[in-house]
Amino acid sequence: MKFHWKVLLWMLAGAVAGMAMQLTLEAPAWTGASWTKTEAGIVLTKTAGPTKKIAGGTEIVAVVTGRGSAEEQKLSLEKEGELKSILAEADNGEVLWLETSDSELLPVALAMDPDSARSQWLAPFDFAADIFMSLLKMLIVPIILTSIITGVTSVGQMADLRRMGIKTALYYVATSLLAILLGQLLVNLIRPGDGATLGLQILDSESLAPEASFIDVLKRMIPENIFASLGSNGAMLQVIFFALLFGFFVTQAPTPHRERITQFFESAFEVMLKMAQGVLSLLPYGVFALMVRVVAKTGFVAFEPLLLYMGTVALALVLHSCVVLPLILKLVGGISPISWFKAVSPALMTAFSTSSSSMTLPVTLETVEKRGKVSNKVTSFTLPLGATINMDGTALYECIGVIFLAQYYAASTPEFVLTLGMQGMIVLMALLASIGAAGIPSAGLVMMLTILAALGLPLEGAALLLAVDRPLDMLRTVVNVWSDSCAAAVIARTEGEIGPTLTGESE
Ligand code: ASP
Repeated sequence: MKFHWKVLLWMLAGAVAGMAMQLTLEAPAWTGASWTKTEAGIVLTKTAGPTKKIAGGTEIVAVVTGRGSAEEQKLSLEKEGELKSILAEADNGEVLWLETSDSELLPVALAMDPDSARSQWLAPFDFAADIFMSLLKMLIVPIILTSIITGVTSVGQMADLRRMGIKTALYYVATSLLAILLGQLLVNLIRPGDGATLGLQILDSESLAPEASFIDVLKRMIPENIFASLGSNGAMLQVIFFALLFGFFVTQAPTPHRERITQFFESAFEVMLKMAQGVLSLLPYGVFALMVRVVAKTGFVAFEPLLLYMGTVALALVLHSCVVLPLILKLVGGISPISWFKAVSPALMTAFSTSSSSMTLPVTLETVEKRGKVSNKVTSFTLPLGATINMDGTALYECIGVIFLAQYYAASTPEFVLTLGMQGMIVLMALLASIGAAGIPSAGLVMMLTILAALGLPLEGAALLLAVDRPLDMLRTVVNVWSDSCAAAVIARTEGEIGPTLTGESE
């Protein structure tokens, strides 16, 4: 059986097994926030979203939503029991957030109670999924480092480097913008926010400030200590920055050193690719475990009021990946989209089950090089960069999510009007947010907070979207990785490579 069919079958089997658990094992009680007892009362130490502490004694309203109407309950947070009992009543898939008396919002991630039957059934799959994810994560930093350095040293000449850099940047910005504009068009046509019943109130959001600006993203690109950056999977842009510079200066070094270090990194990269191949052979079982976990854990009650919104995002993702990107592949690269899709499908399925472009990167590199026959010179340049900054799916999702919430607020509050100028700003910020978002699960949702804050919209809305984020995250990550792979193919073609026309039959 061909490899991609095998992966697909295991993935479907995982979804079926997860569904079976979802249907037969009773929904577990949930736990979420963690807290510590201090003299001042209970201090909430961990919630989803930005971690904040609220001291005991603050008046808190817990809002649970999920079936289209929000229920409010006052808490004093003096006693642990109050929060626990609310969590225990919350249903699989609902969102809980806490609102303090100074209008701070603390979304709480609901996690399954570890003692419930479903958790116990899930344990072996959880274990396998964690191991598989760790294997992928383990490869991210060394693969990025060695592949970019070998890529840059093999491009060698400054003029070539510049040309490829410009092409890559052009492709990334152009496709992200196309994705956003498509999203904007659809969300304005379908208008999912108009009649939505979300049970949100308008909050006074004057105190909200954007958390990260584009300038910050640029500043954060430059590492202060490369070893510290290498030690964290979250500092990918810094590793890329260092590797690009390092590669360039290798080419400037005098002869015996240049050759030695080039060979060293080439060899290291070959070994890394071999390791990626090893992990790839586990892919069918890895995606199986991941699918069981995500399906068994995802609750569906919260989906209903947001179905039209989810549909709009899904439609935009489908149109972008099945029409816009294939047209670019065909017209600019002269490559058959179907053959290309077949060649890179293992990477797409990995993206779907991990919801992370970064974790998928080892698989993307391996499949684009080996199955897609694109040279390392191109992949090592475009793919690690793409996994971090090129996120078409995320870009369109940001745009649709923010306009959806804005439509909802505009429909329910006469003072709030969604102007054309605002829409323009949303487009621009969606682009920046997609560049700034890390290639990890739910990064897009976190970036959405930045846009909402900049527009003065309440962050509460994004907390609500948390409940349906996982399935959308899986889909948008596929589109993110698909766009990266198309970039590699198109750029390889325009650099005169013939490889990407191959059908991807080989493995
Ligand atoms: N999970 C996405 C990715 O890794 C980012 C996002 O949350 O949109 O590509």
